[in-house]
Amino acid sequence: MVVGAGLAGLTAATALARHGVEVTVLEARDRVGGRTRGIEVAPDAWADAGAAYLGDRHTELHLLLSELGIKTTPTTMHGASRFDLGQDARTEAGRFPPLAAVALGDLFDRLAELTARIDPVAPWRTPGAEQLDRQTAAEWAAEQLSHPDARTFFPLFLGEMMAADPAAVSVLHMAFYLRSGGGLRYLNAFEGGAQQDRVAGGAHQVCERLAAGLGDRVRTGEPVRTVHQEATGATVVTERAAYPADAVVLALPPLLAEALSYQPPLPAPRAGRHTTPGCAIKVHLVYPAPLWRRHGLSGWSVSATGPLLSTVDDSPADAGPGVLTGFVTGAEAHRFAALTPEQRRAAAEAHAARLFPELPPPTDCLVTDWVNDPYSHGCYAALLGPGDWLAHGPQLAAAHQRLFFAGTETSTEFFGLMEGAIRSGHRAAAQLLATC
Ligand SMILES: Cc1cc2nc3c(=O)[nH]c(=O)nc-3n(C[C@H](O)[C@H](O)[C@H](O)COP(=O)(O)OP(=O)(O)OC[C@H]3O[C@@H](n4cnc5c(N)ncnc54)[C@H](O)[C@@H]3O)c2cc1C
Repeated sequence: MVVGAGLAGLTAATALARHGVEVTVLEARDRVGGRTRGIEVAPDAWADAGAAYLGDRHTELHLLLSELGIKTTPTTMHGASRFDLGQDARTEAGRFPPLAAVALGDLFDRLAELTARIDPVAPWRTPGAEQLDRQTAAEWAAEQLSHPDARTFFPLFLGEMMAADPAAVSVLHMAFYLRSGGGLRYLNAFEGGAQQDRVAGGAHQVCERLAAGLGDRVRTGEPVRTVHQEATGATVVTERAAYPADAVVLALPPLLAEALSYQPPLPAPRAGRHTTPGCAIKVHLVYPAPLWRRHGLSGWSVSATGPLLSTVDDSPADAGPGVLTGFVTGAEAHRFAALTPEQRRAAAEAHAARLFPELPPPTDCLVTDWVNDPYSHGCYAALLGPGDWLAHGPQLAAAHQRLFFAGTETSTEFFGLMEGAIRSGHRAAAQLLATC
């Protein structure tokens, strides 16, 4: 039995089915894909409301894409960028904001030094882990960054990389996340980095095709509430039925795994007092064509104030509509999530007009709110706050009798990314198969 039809659950289920295991996947939502989701922005033109970008080091994802016959397309980044950092929006060549280069260089050096210290397999065993796990990233920045430009840029960087408010994550979590994803330069880069490509036609197709391969073994609309472990097996109870199983893979974000009722209770919690869901809202601004390119602009922008802290050109590869994706992350996402749908659209469109005054109003403005989504609670991924790694890190991927845990947050490689989810699915399936 697998709980959760995101990338991790469907990867695990596919691996189990290939080994001849009789498997059922129970999914709470009425769709598969979890934190990957496609939205149709124009007839047959799809945008990623959830995960989108991948790089060459995401080898398991690339393998899966080629098995499923899905192609990638480069993330477009040609032309000048817009920066809205306090005064009027400015146009500059390149992707980095026109802030003091020495201050940004110093920030990156400090982060790189911190990242290099982290034990990539067991971050809680990093020398000095107690100290790193005690302090928040916001406290670290206040202590370490004296230049105002570095202080301006740091929360924007963390919002873009991790959808995190620096006050919500420990220094250990921040440094581990950067290390796990291949280092801050790889994670942050388009060409040659983790943002280099997108899945042509949308990342949601991966889960849809995996689910199609599993056929009626995948059951949607089945929110799991309780998991019983007995001497001879397990029972998974949803709102509709009780399913007997020999073993269960729970492929959920840790906060949702923790919210289930376990009989008998688990020996250790999956999330801590300071674990929070992460906060990201994506806004898709749709235009008749990528009109900004006619003005020599890449569509990339960075803003110090919200709602759209950054924008990127996510237009479909073939001729068709122009799509600018706006990212609302960190503390700004909480403010934005509290607005009515009409207020959100108005705020996003007003910000787009300030950033790109040469563009007409978008023909559509689609908002995907992951903050208030009851079945994600990890957007992009769960955020571990002070004390969480030391108290709960060792348990994140630990099996308990007939229960096995998957999900991107259980992977120390590419934690928080699609790649981490797939690797966790393979690992959980292998753990379970080893007990058969
Ligand atoms: C806005 C956004 C942007 C992102 N950008 C990127 C990116 O560019 N690149 C990248 O690599 N990654 C990105 N990510 C992260 C990526 O989406 C995740 O790492 C990955 O999809 C997680 O897969 P998963 O299977 O571990 O979890 P999930 O996708 O969360 O799957 C868990 C599944 O369990 C289901 N579920 C929850 N509770 C229950 C229950 N009680 N019973 C039954 N089912 C339940 C959920 O509905 C879901 O389908 C992004 C995420 C978001 C939200």
